Amino acid sequence: MNFELRIAHLYPDLMNIYADRGNIIALVNRCRWRGIDVHVDEFSPDRTPAWDDYDFFYLGGGQDREQQLVAENLAAKGAGLTGAVEQGAALLAICGGYQLLGQYYRTAGGLTMEGVGLFQAYTVAGQRRLIGNVVARCSLDGVLLELAGFENHSGKTFLTGDGQPLGRIVAGFGNNAEDGTEGIIYKSAIGTYLHGPLLPKNPELTDFLLGRSLMHRYGKEVVLTPLDDCLEKEAHRVAVAQVRY
Ligand code: GLN
Repeated sequence: MNFELRIAHLYPDLMNIYADRGNIIALVNRCRWRGIDVHVDEFSPDRTPAWDDYDFFYLGGGQDREQQLVAENLAAKGAGLTGAVEQGAALLAICGGYQLLGQYYRTAGGLTMEGVGLFQAYTVAGQRRLIGNVVARCSLDGVLLELAGFENHSGKTFLTGDGQPLGRIVAGFGNNAEDGTEGIIYKSAIGTYLHGPLLPKNPELTDFLLGRSLMHRYGKEVVLTPLDDCLEKEAHRVAVAQVRY
């Protein structure tokens, strides 16, 4: 059987810093190398996805200026996006994108951007920028992983209610530099501060998201063909080696 997957890339022109677009390249290549027919559609503010058509939603990072340009538009699409995640679609949101999927983001200038409310979290700008390489431990479907990435944000994100962190910080700042948490996971949706891009050097995370996306399309687990991850593992090793403990 030939498998197929559909990815919606939200605001690719506005929300794309630190090569966040590389995450899409990693997703696409890991599908193609396995013979999975993958389609990526890009959505600028004037286009709205047919939510049920997509298995995976991607939202990259952006500075306050870009976030302001998309916040209202994204909030208006919030019910569709949340509905898709509730139906089992996978999602990855990086940094500024992650912040906008929470309850709100309050900037240093006192402006409050209403979020989508998909994630039980809110973000307030802190006094200093949290910059550097990050290692975070997490468990995805019972598999223990060390995620490696790079962060640069002043926003401090705090989880609320039942909000579950994606991981625990080993090195770096993570959500807020206070409670040792990094990112959030809700169903098959992940928000994280890790740029880099993240997925090329964390192939297990990429495959977790692809597995969840295929589950959404086919309603059952699809076993992913193992790939030769020599280069990906080397990229991960180098990223971890750059971290200052
Ligand atoms: N503007 C946000 C902050 O600084 C997000 C930055 C980003 O996406 N790197 O907190």
